[in-house]
Amino acid sequence: MHGGENVMVILSSPSGVGKTTITKKLQQKYQSFKISVSHTTRSPRSNEVDGVDYNFVSIKKFEELIKEKKFYEYAKIFENYYGTLKKNVDESIKKNDLLFDIDWQGTKQLSNFKNLRMIKIYLITSNKNDLKNRLIKRNQNSLEEIEKRFNAFDEDIKHWNDYDYIIINENLDICFKQIESIINNFKRKISNFSQIIQ
Ligand code: 5GP
Repeated sequence: MHGGENVMVILSSPSGVGKTTITKKLQQKYQSFKISVSHTTRSPRSNEVDGVDYNFVSIKKFEELIKEKKFYEYAKIFENYYGTLKKNVDESIKKNDLLFDIDWQGTKQLSNFKNLRMIKIYLITSNKNDLKNRLIKRNQNSLEEIEKRFNAFDEDIKHWNDYDYIIINENLDICFKQIESIINNFKRKISNFSQIIQ
């Protein structure tokens, strides 16, 4: 991937569209990319590791962090808090490009920080019915939670306009290549610009 200044890439999508797979693939291919590890009050799933997938914290701890204004952004999603700590981002961005797997509410809040070099990508499926099957197959949530996530789809996609790019995930490889090329172009632009203003 093209070098230069480090960038922040936000990837949002309704549940089950393939965002986690793409994020992990990007990180594997490009060592420069780190995934921003969010804080959450949700309980860990059986395959999740504290400090790797999320920092799992109590509601009390999360609300303290809100009061102390420690978050760049946070949101309540499916009755749990999720948020991105300022300290973690500020430290990681010095050394790495950063990938954010966050929802539209968090994206809106991060957009208010005008000094962040950020690109916002929204991933969508062309077939809503496939989505439910994928959520069931993924087997990470109870049926009630699957229903909640599926029902959130219509509300979620209303916010497509807050993003720089909309990518339709019909084929994972094509989708991955499109995202790669968007990021490369963005990095090149930032790098050219910073050379000019030096
Ligand atoms: P899950 O519970 O499936 O891991 O995540 C549920 C939703 O929370 C996903 O849409 C994910 O992108 C979003 N999410 C995860 N971390 C954060 C965060 O730090 N901030 C915000 N705003 N959303 C997040």
